[in-house]
Amino acid sequence: MDGFQSVAQVTSWFVAGRALFVFIHVLGLACFSCIVAQRLVPLLRAERDFRFDWPWARLEGVLKYWLAQWKQPRYRAAGTLHIFIFVGFLVLAIRAFSVLIAGVRENFVMPGLSGRAGYVYDLITDYAATIVFLCMVIAVIRRLVFKPARYAVPARYGKGHKADAIFLLSLIALLMLADSLFAAVKAAAEAQQGQSAQVLAAFSLPWMLRNVLVSTPLPILGRLYFGAYLVHELTFYFLLCYRPFGIQFHVETSLFNIYFAKLDREILKPVRWGVGDEHLDQVKSFGVKTFEDFTWKHMLDFYSCADCGRCSDNCPANAVGRPLSPRFITSKARDYSFEHYPVLGRASKGPALIGSIYSPDEIWSCTTCGACEEECPLLVEYIDKIVDLRRGMIDEGNVPQSLQKPLKALESRGNPYGKMEKKRADWATPKEFQQTCRVKVLDHPNGAETLYFVDSITSFDDRMQAIGRATARILNHVGENFGILGAAERDSGHEVRRFGEETLFMALRDHNVDAIKASGVWRIVTGDPHAYNALKHDYHDVPPVEHISQLIAREVRAGNIRFKPVENINNVYTYHDPCYLGRHNQIYDDPRDVLDAIPGLARVEMTRSRDRSFCCGGGGLMLFYEPKEEQRMGVKRVQMAAEAGANVIVTACPFCMVNMEDAIKVAGMEGKMTAIDLAELVDQQIARACPEWIEQQATEIRECVTASSDSH
Ligand code: SF4
Ligand code: SF4
Repeated sequence: MDGFQSVAQVTSWFVAGRALFVFIHVLGLACFSCIVAQRLVPLLRAERDFRFDWPWARLEGVLKYWLAQWKQPRYRAAGTLHIFIFVGFLVLAIRAFSVLIAGVRENFVMPGLSGRAGYVYDLITDYAATIVFLCMVIAVIRRLVFKPARYAVPARYGKGHKADAIFLLSLIALLMLADSLFAAVKAAAEAQQGQSAQVLAAFSLPWMLRNVLVSTPLPILGRLYFGAYLVHELTFYFLLCYRPFGIQFHVETSLFNIYFAKLDREILKPVRWGVGDEHLDQVKSFGVKTFEDFTWKHMLDFYSCADCGRCSDNCPANAVGRPLSPRFITSKARDYSFEHYPVLGRASKGPALIGSIYSPDEIWSCTTCGACEEECPLLVEYIDKIVDLRRGMIDEGNVPQSLQKPLKALESRGNPYGKMEKKRADWATPKEFQQTCRVKVLDHPNGAETLYFVDSITSFDDRMQAIGRATARILNHVGENFGILGAAERDSGHEVRRFGEETLFMALRDHNVDAIKASGVWRIVTGDPHAYNALKHDYHDVPPVEHISQLIAREVRAGNIRFKPVENINNVYTYHDPCYLGRHNQIYDDPRDVLDAIPGLARVEMTRSRDRSFCCGGGGLMLFYEPKEEQRMGVKRVQMAAEAGANVIVTACPFCMVNMEDAIKVAGMEGKMTAIDLAELVDQQIARACPEWIEQQATEIRECVTASSDSH
């Protein structure tokens, strides 16, 4: 164009545009490479982590969680905004590359983007730049005006990142503005010179700017063109180099973080990758004590966290005021890493993590419920890190006072209550129970096909023993040839392992595996989700295991269990998903299907249900630990049930039962709310009478319910 030079041709302050932009490119890329290389230093010094298997499954994860932004819509407004920004960035990536090249080579056109394809792509990018710009404006307004609570940083966790976030959002907005101005000025100049001007997408930012500039004198347009390009280049490289200093580093790392994410989330990380159980005695130090004890993948997590606060927003420990907020487990480690592995300066090994950035209470406060991991859009892992930190504390003898006794009891007696082994089967001895059901103790091989693994709480807790008896009666009703290990059973060790006591867990597991093998059973059933999770994922070489809710659902579908109608049709039931049945094992539908099969049973869902279920307060050893908290998790949960309009909470875990019944008392809701285990409810509702009578009862209930809803 006459009087309108390309940016590569312009000479400004005696510097040729091409030379200037080559210099900016080289400098920008060199700085970025050096910064990223420095950021990789701690990862190279970290512990091993085996994440190179299953490439196709990992790619699938990338497509789902990175490209399709699978978890973003869980937060509708913020998620939608993020999806627009992400898609905008993807669309603009090629344009950004073309614009960068334009500084050193005039009239550069990306291969494949000439002609019609280029025309369509340009229109799309005009809209993409506009959408990203608008999203930035909205995001800044959200931060400044609406101030979502989950972004707040309580004083004990240090300074907030609001200023940094707004600065970065503004820079991205500036980048979009410069990009749009660059395109608009060119189109305005072309239009003035009567050339076939580049068509800009109607109502896009470049289109609006072109309309404003269309009668601006050409020399001014030339300067604006060069200025817009220079601003674009400087902003682009500044952003590139600034991002690795804060939360925006996730833009670069998230793809890798998702590719290397844990595929078998339900399986706990081994003490040391590559060291088998039989060689653990040669490991000098267990768990994470210093920053370098984390694995490289866990460090990558620290870089990849976007600080969105969704993990903490869903963390029950955080909700009840325990000194734990998972988001800050990450951000404190990231700050620690930046401090001890600076971009400029020497790397230095810092102090032990516990006592410097983490407190013991913070680490013991976690119930390993998995809500944080379920929510995180970037698949940041928490449970393994927390368990590793606990392993480190246990290794140093740093065990909470209240947990020392149950741990000793587990070591000596195989249960946290310190009860005699021979008393394990006492729950099955009451006379009235034995009149309805006989429970075999499998003290010789091939005594039964199915093992009912009872575990400690159901064996020894007076209230929970009723769940054991209900479970046994159900197994009996469906004709299962089953038995129990009795004195030969030990605690499953599920909580012991999550508590960080790996050696004790191994002893309990090995004892149970030997006893199970000796019994000659073909399959295992348990009513305890913690035992279920341990047998399924922590044990090896044992027969397949089922939770009792799965078995009941199957028998209901097969017609082997029929229910009589509920007696009180005014009761409203809600199902509380135990963490180790739901989130950790995806058993959501079976218990609900069973409830829905009971005639006349009215069921409502709590807002936080299924994979967003709210932990009851933690099972296993958490029953013996008294964390600092403002409110009990169980109390919050029964309040949620009441808000949903329920007056009966059904659960399928003995630990949940302990916490719920306790919470009902603490919340002063006795008489207004009750809790019952699914096995107890099923046992109570099983129709042991003739089917015709049941059908008649069910019809009456249905008529009654219809009449009542008609009258409303
Ligand atoms: S596992 Fe549960 S309790 Fe632990 S940090 Fe995550 S959400 Fe909080
Ligand atoms: S860990 Fe995940 S959910 Fe938590 S703040 Fe970081 S990105 Fe958000």
